[in-house]
Amino acid sequence: MNRVNTSPILRIDAAGKTYFNNQGVPVPALMPVTAQIAEAEFVSFVGPSGCGKTTLLKMAAGLITPSEGAITYAATGTPIRPGHYGFVFQGAALLPWRTVLENVMLPAVILGLPLHAARERARQLLELVHLGRAASSYPNQLSGGMQQRASIARALLHDPTVLFMDEPFGALDAMTREQLNMELQRISVDQKKTVLFVTHDIEEAVLLSDRVFVFTRGPGQLAQTLEVAIPRPRVVSDRAHPDFLRIVAQIRTLLDRGDTRVEEHA
Ligand code: ADP
Ligand code: MG
Repeated sequence: MNRVNTSPILRIDAAGKTYFNNQGVPVPALMPVTAQIAEAEFVSFVGPSGCGKTTLLKMAAGLITPSEGAITYAATGTPIRPGHYGFVFQGAALLPWRTVLENVMLPAVILGLPLHAARERARQLLELVHLGRAASSYPNQLSGGMQQRASIARALLHDPTVLFMDEPFGALDAMTREQLNMELQRISVDQKKTVLFVTHDIEEAVLLSDRVFVFTRGPGQLAQTLEVAIPRPRVVSDRAHPDFLRIVAQIRTLLDRGDTRVEEHA
């Protein structure tokens, strides 16, 4: 896609976060970040544990408030509202007492949408993520990969424009992960979703993204954003593309440097 010609969908305007611990001592978690996310763009956040990736994702979703700055949905100029986004958490976070179909319908219940139409759409989405036959199963009857597929279907139920995904495939084996990477790509490209995707896995980030935001610790900050110019949709063999290898190496260097700096301060 050509990002330059598309308008921003999210504006991150010097948004930073300081938490307070139990003693009331301020703990800086994320130094101010400024960036714009384009419509239908796929952006990944990578960086070591504790560098503020989840914090930034939750602020972008309006789930927590920035201590400084703001993150706004361009269409309204206010924080994005639940009807406009879907959120996929690290654990699939399915409700164990609801069937897969009922789990996928959950956003309709929460947002007060008509349930008959939601049930139809939930069935279609389960087909889309290859879970059509698991609709009446319970989450504990599904493999980890199937549970994550169900949680992606759930995040898409209300046809949101933006998907926030916090290490959605972190707990899966490498083969399942690669399969889900390709399925997520297919869905996000076909349905023109804007995706903000947190991952520990540099190669996963580069394979999926238009841009990769690299974060470092001590305290968390956005060190650099890197553009991946390989045309999307990508194929698994793009992992051997010279641009792919170059960007992966560049990110590793940034992260190594970040870690060294943390040690120097310690
Ligand atoms: P990441 O997702 O990159 O691992 P987080 O955004 O979860 O990082 O956390 C960034 C920093 O903020 C960490 O030092 C973490 O311990 C701290 N932190 C996160 N949430 C809270 C909270 N609710 N209260 C206090 N500190 C927090
Ligand atoms: Mg996190």
